[in-house]
Amino acid sequence: MSELAEAAGAPLRLPQVIAVDGPSASGKGTLSRRLATELGYVYVDSGAMYRTLAWWAIQKNLHCEKPMSPADEEAIVGLMRRWKAEMRLVDGQAWLHVNGYFPAKEIRTDDVERSVPVVAQIGKVRDWMVARQRECVHLGPLVMEGRDIGTEVFPLAPVKFFLEADEGVRQARMAERGNAGSNAAVRDSMDTTRKQGALYAALDSIRVNNTGQTPDQTFAILMGHVRARLGTP
Ligand code: C5P
Repeated sequence: MSELAEAAGAPLRLPQVIAVDGPSASGKGTLSRRLATELGYVYVDSGAMYRTLAWWAIQKNLHCEKPMSPADEEAIVGLMRRWKAEMRLVDGQAWLHVNGYFPAKEIRTDDVERSVPVVAQIGKVRDWMVARQRECVHLGPLVMEGRDIGTEVFPLAPVKFFLEADEGVRQARMAERGNAGSNAAVRDSMDTTRKQGALYAALDSIRVNNTGQTPDQTFAILMGHVRARLGTP
């Protein structure tokens, strides 16, 4: 049998990925980490990757706030093409490291918070990030959280969640974390309206609005869907 005929007869292998998308403070982080731990999957926070580039660009004194000129965008793309960045596994979680360093604290500052949606709107940045995110399948089965995981990065993921919560609840969660709610609203609006990789629910995603639920309740709902789809004990 020719290689092509063999490939044609081969069963379609879906990426072993659970995609978790949603706006800020919709519960993605907590629930994705917990799913990954429960299932023994590798956890990937794709937002941290965009934050890391925003942080690096700020370090290099590049302009990364609105308004951005084409030259500003090219400067960021050029920086990204030159940086020594790679995904590394740390305790079952994959994080983007720059020069061997993962800036865990630095990517949570107000400056990064403001710049990250601007950097994430650049098409060539998204292409680079999506390629790195897809490469993560080599690390093992994944729970990956973000904005475009079920739509762009892994459109064939066998399980896709789209998490939501009412505006007031999300504001309260952000206030609890010490994040300015207005920043997040700006971020969400930029994330939903950009040309490439915009935030929206994939048609085949399972939408879960967790307003009024405890984290335990939402987790049980998600696990129920995972078991039904994957047959995972
Ligand atoms: O998830 P987190 O809030 O850390 O994401 C920070 C920002 O990174 C988002 O507001 C968005 O601009 C960008 N992002 C993205 N695509 C993803 C994940 C995050 O554009 N898949």
